Amino acid sequence: MNSSDRSPEGLNSPEPKPKNFIQEMVERDLAEGRSGGRVHTRFPPEPNGYLHIGHAKSIHLNFGIARDYGGKCNLRFDDTNPLNEDPAFVESIRRDIRWLGFDWEDREFHASDYYDQLYEWAVHLVREGKAYVCELDEKEIREYRGTVTEAGRPSPWRDRPVEESLDLLERMRQGEFEEGRYTLRAKIDMAAANMKMRDPLIYRIRHAVHHRTGDRWKIYPMYDFAHCLSDAIEGITHSLCTLEFKDNRELYDWFVENCPVSSRPYQTEFARLNLTHTVMSKRKLKRLVEEGIVEGWDDPRLPTLSGMRRRGYTPEAIATFCDRIGVARTDSVIELALLEHHLREDLNARALRVMTVLDPLKLVITNYPEDRTEVFQALNNPEDPDAGTHELPFSRELWVERGDFREDAPRKWFRLAPGKEVRLKFAYFVTCEEVIRNEKGEVIELRCTYDPQSRGGQSPDGRKVKGTLHWVSARHAVECEARLYSNLFTEAHPEAEGKDLLECLDPHSLEIRPHCKAEPYLASVAVGESVQFFRHGYFVVDPDTNEERRVFNRTVGLRDSWAKLEKKLQPG
Ligand code: ATP
Ligand code: MG
Repeated sequence: MNSSDRSPEGLNSPEPKPKNFIQEMVERDLAEGRSGGRVHTRFPPEPNGYLHIGHAKSIHLNFGIARDYGGKCNLRFDDTNPLNEDPAFVESIRRDIRWLGFDWEDREFHASDYYDQLYEWAVHLVREGKAYVCELDEKEIREYRGTVTEAGRPSPWRDRPVEESLDLLERMRQGEFEEGRYTLRAKIDMAAANMKMRDPLIYRIRHAVHHRTGDRWKIYPMYDFAHCLSDAIEGITHSLCTLEFKDNRELYDWFVENCPVSSRPYQTEFARLNLTHTVMSKRKLKRLVEEGIVEGWDDPRLPTLSGMRRRGYTPEAIATFCDRIGVARTDSVIELALLEHHLREDLNARALRVMTVLDPLKLVITNYPEDRTEVFQALNNPEDPDAGTHELPFSRELWVERGDFREDAPRKWFRLAPGKEVRLKFAYFVTCEEVIRNEKGEVIELRCTYDPQSRGGQSPDGRKVKGTLHWVSARHAVECEARLYSNLFTEAHPEAEGKDLLECLDPHSLEIRPHCKAEPYLASVAVGESVQFFRHGYFVVDPDTNEERRVFNRTVGLRDSWAKLEKKLQPG
């Protein structure tokens, strides 16, 4: 998948994009023949939630490196914590990666597939005197560990005989003991400067049911033990993870070097993606879903890939965005406006232009015959000469946008007002002659006349009409609902320390317009397809759509604040 061809940057720049530090490293490794000239990466989600745009960065990186260097990328479910994991999450993760355009072929693995092998290696460590069964509880382990400035103290069980540890470990596995009674710990160095090396846990007892292994296991391996060894089992060469695992790398190497593995993986850390106006921690996303603040994991306001798909994001826009932000070694926060900019660029190139009235007001053309219908040809996409046209019926009664009419119009008002002439896009010039009100005094209808000479919206005599409005023929209108989404949070940094998530929610992040009128073409647009509502932005058909009611989500408005900003920043 290479959508960068479409971006203007891609077209104009003769120089190839500079390599990021991971590409440089991989090229160096290949040149030096490390890992036998192989490149093998993996994407290792924990199936405890839905994937989000941050994961997309990792997916693009891992699958991208494999693609660019003739390697392979595995999908590995890092399912070592039975408590929060769920097969429904597994399915959603598969769907989202496929949607992004990546294929792991027959290489779908689960850390739980390796439980037997991992256990064998744990036994190996005990035999070698490099692991022991400990009886300290959680609190004691923390106390014994010491602090950053103070060395830890050895556990009283640290030197227990190998045979005793082996026996206890086996009985832990059989389920003989209650949770917390024993742990298996690596015997490394209680005075290590790196706290992760102070006899870290390998196994703990958990009487839980795992979604794949059932109740077969009563002990579960810790991430630090399972992850590196899973990498080794799969022959991973480059294990790419986010920066918060930097301190874990020493331990990663220790396990790989002290277990009899046949393949040696290496861990490299990169900066995670952070975005303004949203949250990305799974714990927080889960909270929003479980407390009913949003409508589910695929709520179009969430940065989950399922939510973004429903919102109308395209995999191409996400690919261009990931390419643009690159991969760095230090953390930063990216403006949401940049992501939206790439989305607009993509939709602008592909979305068909249609007319939909979100807040309808009746407009009657008094000098137009009642039984007449004309069909105009509407341009599908002015950006794409090959996109063609579609049919647009016109008749005496139309819907126009209520906001396009003002009775006491200011001087520079180029839309409808008593006595003013405007262009109805693709159709005719009309002049507002009369305003009809109900008994409450509200405007309910505009009476207009049209100029038959202005057919197709062309000026018959060179007279200028500044305003061009969208409209829908009332007789042909398709009823629909528009869901106008905006940011879930008013704050740019809702994840910042000391902020309560719920206090920075925008109560107007979803505004529903239940009675919109759309041109008939919209009856044929399929779920997931994107269109541009003339003057309103990009919309996508929501899965809630049915025969009676078509539902459209606003993906993003037309105004590109990022492009504007870039223009301003450009010299000259
Ligand atoms: P949590 O939010 O619970 O800490 P996680 O984000 O670590 O979860 P995982 O399922 O463990 O979720 O992540 C799978 C992979 O995606 C990991 O390799 C992780 O480093 C990467 N990843 C997660 N979040 C981001 C992010 N914001 N940017 C880049 N990569 C990410
Ligand atoms: Mg994680």
